[in-house]
Amino acid sequence: MSRFFSVRHNNLKAYTPGEQPKDMKYIKLNTNESPFPPPDSVAEAAADQARLAELYSDPECTLLREKMSEVYGVPAENIVMGNGSDEILALIFSAFGDENSPFVFPDITYSFYKVFADLYHVPYTEIPLDDSLMVHTEDYENIGKNIVIANPNAPTGQALSAEDIERIVCSNRNNIVVIDEAYVDFGAVSSVTLTQKYDNLIVCGTFSKSRSMAGARLGFAIADRDIIKDLNTMRYSTNPYNVNRMTMAAGIAALSERDYFLKNCRDITETRKYTEEHLLRLGFSVLPSRANFLFIKSDKIGGKRLYEKLKEAGILVRHFDSERIKEYIRVTIGTRDQMKIFLDETEKILGEES
Ligand SMILES: *Cc1c(COP(=O)(O)O)cnc(C)c1O
Repeated sequence: MSRFFSVRHNNLKAYTPGEQPKDMKYIKLNTNESPFPPPDSVAEAAADQARLAELYSDPECTLLREKMSEVYGVPAENIVMGNGSDEILALIFSAFGDENSPFVFPDITYSFYKVFADLYHVPYTEIPLDDSLMVHTEDYENIGKNIVIANPNAPTGQALSAEDIERIVCSNRNNIVVIDEAYVDFGAVSSVTLTQKYDNLIVCGTFSKSRSMAGARLGFAIADRDIIKDLNTMRYSTNPYNVNRMTMAAGIAALSERDYFLKNCRDITETRKYTEEHLLRLGFSVLPSRANFLFIKSDKIGGKRLYEKLKEAGILVRHFDSERIKEYIRVTIGTRDQMKIFLDETEKILGEES
């Protein structure tokens, strides 16, 4: 740290992204990206806009929000677009959190929530998942604080029903409830329609996972129009051109490729089932996942060691050091071929351990 860094940030622990090593070619099952490239129409739309890069992008994202409105079935005034949903989450914490408006979220969830809370000096409480690492809905009913829940949750992959979410939202009408749907397209039920009924619900989503655009940085929030106005106030106070013109056009093209999108989601969920069945045969515990990853552990080998052994074999997965989940690894669902190699190597590693 330099001697100029504000004392405000003395205790800030920044988010640690999954590793993106350059030393060799790994099978990358560590950051929940799609194993499929975006369709050609997406790359072409972005290339066309690159030729106009001397001009600022549309700060209102008008055309993209109109397309979003059509696809998600909500008015465009209920939508704001962001430079990834990470930016949207940052806007939410800075807009709605303060000393008198604390946040709660699960003890095991997307670790960025804690970073945003610390960055914006928002007090927060972490609510433990139950013994099966599920969000315990009752813990959030009438809690009287702002809530963030990833649904499906990360890194566990487990999802709540629409009824559970509605109970949380309608028992906390004087607080914001954020449902982070980064993984919803892989088999969970979306809460987007509930935003038309409850003015305290924000649903956020991303093009990074199911729409194969992690490197383009595009996310969104859907909520009541006054909440969207607040988020726009924050956005126009930091970076009005937050979505660049290449990404904006790519996003419109991606939303037009419905069949490709649905096929990829189906491929991932089928490959997830195939991988899960195989892992169960190898004796793993596998949490029931509605996401594009599996959260698994084995009695035969520790989480950290399995992560290291797989890395030696050229396969990257994610391991978390935190106490409650340190025996697990999180494995992104790749292509069928990638998962076959992962399963072969895992079986080999288990054989060597015993
Ligand atoms: C990946 C992820 C995000 C962030 O996605 P970006 O749009 O790439 O910023 C948000 N929330 C959760 C739970 C995620 O896993």
